[in-house]
Amino acid sequence: MKKIANISIDTKISDHYNSCVYMLKCYKNRKALQNKSEDFVYYTDMTKDPIHRLDEHIKNQDIYTKRFNGNVEVSYIELYNDLSSAQRRKEQLKKLRRIEKETLISKKVIGVCDKCHDNMTRSIIIDNEGERKQILQCSGCKFWKILPLNF
Ligand SMILES: [Zn+2]
Repeated sequence: MKKIANISIDTKISDHYNSCVYMLKCYKNRKALQNKSEDFVYYTDMTKDPIHRLDEHIKNQDIYTKRFNGNVEVSYIELYNDLSSAQRRKEQLKKLRRIEKETLISKKVIGVCDKCHDNMTRSIIIDNEGERKQILQCSGCKFWKILPLNF
């Protein structure tokens, strides 16, 4: 299990899927981040190396989010196994209005784990056959499964 701030990606998954689209919530200071203030902006990007890249944002080593001094939170991740799908999805997400981003992120929690009753969250992947699937992962015991997705 690799861990970055509030998100963990199972290594079995992250080693298999080589592209990642993500959204950060960027706060102006530490207090706003801790209080989960509404005063933030979204930053949407993609990477081939989510663990490394998201870590850079959080450690304030990234030029695009430098003005937020590392007061950023990983809010959303979708995994893909080809770069062009990730690129298309990034462009799509960037055009969403704030309320649409909120809706997408809030849908990330999709239920409760059978085993430990913590929240199950959802990420979306595209497999080698180009089929969209969803990964459900428990934020408590880290139990995960991959399910087909129709949309
Ligand atoms: Zn669990």
